[in-house]
Amino acid sequence: TYVIGEPCVDVTDRSCIEECPVDCIYEGARALYIHPDECVDCGACEPVCPVEAIYYEDDLPEAWRPHLADNEAFFAQT
Ligand code: SF4
Repeated sequence: TYVIGEPCVDVTDRSCIEECPVDCIYEGARALYIHPDECVDCGACEPVCPVEAIYYEDDLPEAWRPHLADNEAFFAQT
């Protein structure tokens, strides 16, 4: 799955939402989140993010990993 890291927080540009063919990017209070079970790994969202917040999960820079806990919490409540 692709994931959205820390740079998205308080930016939420939404360009990625328009690109996603399966509409699996959801909007939280302060950031956008990719649903891990719905993402089909197409990679379309990655290049359109203006703050380069989107990465394939294994390639996400260490510094932006803390935001993944938010990602889990977001989907845990739905
Ligand atoms: Fe959507 Fe493709 Fe990005 Fe996954 S990789 S969130 S399916 S645009």
